[in-house]
Amino acid sequence: MTEYLNQLNQTQREAVETTEGPVLVLAGAGTGKTRVLTTRFAHILLTGKAYSNQILAVTFTNKASKEMSERIAHLIQQPVDGLWLGSFHKICAKMLRINAHLVGLTSNFTILDTDDQIRLLKQIIPSYPIDLKTTPPQLILGTIQSWKDKGYSFGNLPASEKNTPETIIIQEIYHTYQVRLQQLNACDFGDLMLHVFNIFNQYPEVLQKYQRYFRYILVDEYQDTNIIQYLWLRLLAQRSDDIPNICCVGDDDQSIYSWRGAEIANILRFEKDFPTAKIIRLEANYRSTQNILGAASELINHNSQRLGKTLQAANKPVQNEKVHIASVWDSHEEARLICDQMIALQKDRHRYGDMAILMRTGSQTRPFEERMIMLGLPYKIIGGLRFYERAEIRDAIAYMRIVAQPNDNLALERIINIPRRGVGSVALQKIHMKARELDIPMLQAVDYLLINNQLKGKIYTELTLLMNQLDQARKKIETEGYVSAIDDLLNNCGYIDMWKQDKSPEAAGRLENIKELFQATAEFPNLVEFLEHISLIMDNDDLSGDDKVNLMTLHAAKGLEFNIVFLPGWEEGLFPSQRTMDESGINGLEEERRLAYVGITRAKQILFISHAANRQIYGQWQSSIPSRFVEELSDKYTKKTSHIKQSQNRPQKNNDYYDRYSSPKFSTEITQGATYSQAKRPYSPPKTKNIPVGSRVFHQKFGHGTVLSIENNKLEVCFDKSDIKHVIDSFVTLES
Ligand code: ATP
Ligand code: MG
Repeated sequence: MTEYLNQLNQTQREAVETTEGPVLVLAGAGTGKTRVLTTRFAHILLTGKAYSNQILAVTFTNKASKEMSERIAHLIQQPVDGLWLGSFHKICAKMLRINAHLVGLTSNFTILDTDDQIRLLKQIIPSYPIDLKTTPPQLILGTIQSWKDKGYSFGNLPASEKNTPETIIIQEIYHTYQVRLQQLNACDFGDLMLHVFNIFNQYPEVLQKYQRYFRYILVDEYQDTNIIQYLWLRLLAQRSDDIPNICCVGDDDQSIYSWRGAEIANILRFEKDFPTAKIIRLEANYRSTQNILGAASELINHNSQRLGKTLQAANKPVQNEKVHIASVWDSHEEARLICDQMIALQKDRHRYGDMAILMRTGSQTRPFEERMIMLGLPYKIIGGLRFYERAEIRDAIAYMRIVAQPNDNLALERIINIPRRGVGSVALQKIHMKARELDIPMLQAVDYLLINNQLKGKIYTELTLLMNQLDQARKKIETEGYVSAIDDLLNNCGYIDMWKQDKSPEAAGRLENIKELFQATAEFPNLVEFLEHISLIMDNDDLSGDDKVNLMTLHAAKGLEFNIVFLPGWEEGLFPSQRTMDESGINGLEEERRLAYVGITRAKQILFISHAANRQIYGQWQSSIPSRFVEELSDKYTKKTSHIKQSQNRPQKNNDYYDRYSSPKFSTEITQGATYSQAKRPYSPPKTKNIPVGSRVFHQKFGHGTVLSIENNKLEVCFDKSDIKHVIDSFVTLES
């Protein structure tokens, strides 16, 4: 019956068995905090202290809550449902559905996404004297959201938040915005918490109901709670009639969400709020090898703002490889090296599903995705879309398609109103009808309607402008090449500005993705070939099965673990991110270092860190130098190897690559983006494999087939199990 307790060490067991009263488990990565929480959940159930729906368990991500309910089901040997388990937002949404009437909503309220929010704000803003140039809707939304994250409704904003003329007006907009939401029977993401928080404050009987109902409260990743989450928890936990049974687990070294208002200080407040709290520290790490832990500790020791903890490897692992740190020539080599390593490891008894590539930004996935598609290496992206499925990438490609192929109606439909040009469904219908009537492509129909004055007002002006811009882009291709033509088009038509003005958290990532797309273009001589490459890549579906390499950002990896972890792109400016350092100085740098610590401590057995000497920014090769985090790792736990060949024509003093790229003045060098002239590569046609017509080939997706014809690097293949298809030669292997 109590066998599950035997799977814990003494201190963990104490944390599980101290079910009554407040408990704070403060411990480093991989020490079993989440295991303690899940076991504690099971322990409460199995000892009959509460029913499963009387336990409130807060996890940070949906992935973590899924893992938690699976672990609980495994421990108690039966499926679990009806749980109060999930992220803060998920739990609040459930509570709000039950109590919606108390804030003037009905239980079937809708939750708006960012697009809806902006649309609503744009309807409201014109009635207020605010300059949209300095205060765009996205900024207004950001301000409202940050107020919500702090627990402020429009009626109770403190004076300190209303200290500029703009914020005074934004407060009024906030008010109207909430009234409109109510009329729509809707709320936004921030309201989920704020409404419930307000209900708790205004209706003590509701709060008391939940306080009594939740006999036990469990919170994972406590270091990343923001103010309203913290206040909400405190309301639920601070009951007048009893000491709360609240257990929070966290690690100050893994606090990585301060940019969303998370406060490490909440850890320190715990002891103040609950003076009888028992503080438990776990020091044995069950996840990683001694070398991985040694490297993690070395790194995090460079942070000054720490509570301080020690970590010891609990296992004597069979394998205790040093952490690999590889320097490579450029981002292509990096993707190649990592994929080669993964294939070799898979041949050597490892599963792809046990491997992960963790990146600083979402846009870094692109070279890996392309390489993996080419090699037929199965992968999945956690917490994000595959690169070419992202909205901004599809938009940019649609612009390219309509330039390359004016008949492409689908592409035109996608971008005709992005950015907004006032083309609503009525105007679109008109264009469609004209195209059908005259049997011409939609773009020509637009032209016809413009010439014959059948489109009016804003639509007329905007579409005339768009037509000119598309024409100009086509001309520019001839003179300046397609990359700069498309770049200019996206800038001139307002597409790039649209994202620049967007103040939602995703906007910066979207701009980076577009830059990344431009880097992909550099390998193709013309637009048509590039678009063909894209359509071949997009056609490559996900391979079935679960044994896939995991690709995700470092933020999304929190709480997870993998046998083998790759951490690419450890270069100054990229990681630590220049933007974070510029915006938040030393605090930003320390948060970046915590993110690196999170990355390192995800690995159980094998860890690869890599950095490239050259990276493409907007099609231009720029030199980069290793991240300061690389320098903070000593040889004691790491093994540094250079994969840069002599032939890659960089002046070489000796074989120590490390000296060559380290420079005391790196931070200025990277911001200015020094460009090595020899690194600016002229376009060279893709290398063709020597595949004769008539030979048998194998393609990862289409299977076996016979080559019918060859043009440069494109093959026409008759596949045994499907029909004739055009594929790029690097996607196939020659069968002997
Ligand atoms: P993070 O800070 O990264 O969220 P964590 O402290 O939550 O880490 P867990 O994920 O709970 O750590 O545990 C790390 C790994 O160690 C898991 O694979 C877990 O099953 C294992 N583990 C934890 N405690 C023990 C133990 N007493 N014996 C054996 N394995 C353990
Ligand atoms: Mg955990």
